[in-house]
Amino acid sequence: MTESAPTRTLPLVFAAPKKGKPPTHWADLGVDERKEAVVAAGQPAFRASQLSKHWFERFSHDPADWTDLPAALRQDFAAEFFPPLLQEVKAQTCDNGDTEKLLWRLHDGALVESVLMKYPNRTTMCISSQAGCGMACPFCATGKGGLQRNMSTAEIVSQVADGMRRLAVRDGGRVNNVVFMGMGEPLANYKAVLGAVRVMTTPAPDGLGMSARGITVSTVGLVPAINKMTEEGIPVTLALSLHAPDDELRDEIVPINTRWKVGEAVDAAWEYAKRTKRRVSIEYAMMKDINDQAYRADMLASVLKRRGDWGWVHVNLIPLNDVPGSRFTRSRDEDMAEFVRRLEAKGVPTTIRDTRGDEIDAACGQLAATGEKA
Ligand code: SAH
Repeated sequence: MTESAPTRTLPLVFAAPKKGKPPTHWADLGVDERKEAVVAAGQPAFRASQLSKHWFERFSHDPADWTDLPAALRQDFAAEFFPPLLQEVKAQTCDNGDTEKLLWRLHDGALVESVLMKYPNRTTMCISSQAGCGMACPFCATGKGGLQRNMSTAEIVSQVADGMRRLAVRDGGRVNNVVFMGMGEPLANYKAVLGAVRVMTTPAPDGLGMSARGITVSTVGLVPAINKMTEEGIPVTLALSLHAPDDELRDEIVPINTRWKVGEAVDAAWEYAKRTKRRVSIEYAMMKDINDQAYRADMLASVLKRRGDWGWVHVNLIPLNDVPGSRFTRSRDEDMAEFVRRLEAKGVPTTIRDTRGDEIDAACGQLAATGEKA
């Protein structure tokens, strides 16, 4: 006799996912859709808030812990509404355990990474929005592999929920800031990214209850998408990866510049700052003898200055992180110091980014999940 499959108490609500698409997950649904899904499963609507409380507030992904739900239904609820989206492949730590890089396998085998960075008074999580990236910036490790696919809202949110769970279990901490500076170009996956921002900023128990101000969306400068984000009126921080003040150089190191020029990208960022009252961050990775000349610091200051006073912007210099096989290398210390001095002399607020995680290839631009190799 063959054993029959365990009987399901709950009817199926979602159709099987389309080829290549991740399964639908609770975090993909709006608050009303979650209630409708529970009702469609023949359950009272209030179960939706019970489930949300477990996932978004307690970060509990184990149905055995959902003791306020009928025991017979817990497994079915989990299987239907909470399909596992991220499978941990590897976790690596450095900086005395304060930096942790996580490698995930998605349902279709695609690999993505996120990085948890603990600071004395906050924890920042750097997350991915796409498997791979299609922007092809030649100094970036992710850019070398091309784009595999967009991540879904729930895949994006799951990275943060997982970070929250790790910290909660460890010492009751929370992820305070999220930066879309992992793999992918967030504004090329606009809908899922904005959906994820909404879920992160929705108060618990329906969302992760984070502050929009703690979320940074970093972009190569997809101008129409920046403009669209300006209209959303969500006060997330915008970071523009400029890396060069002139079109000639930027065409080469940020290839999307051949489509939207420095002037257009900076204008869109300025408009964003004006409308949201959020200071825009200009990312500038310091590359030896490429973009780090003193005259380029002066050019950068004037490109930003002509948009008005300095309240709207600050420059974040990133010492370039080594990418194996790359012809781009990190600027000399003295050139970086001169670059900062020039910007500051012109009154441009400037900071130098720390290089957290570089020894485990977890720093900016080093994420290139190609397998399980150490
Ligand atoms: N696609 C988004 C997010 C990319 S990662 C964007 O372009 O903004 C976040 C930042 O790291 C970007 O500014 C990116 O240009 C930068 N970066 C990429 N490779 C790097 C490297 N090797 N060293 C330092 N920064 C790098």
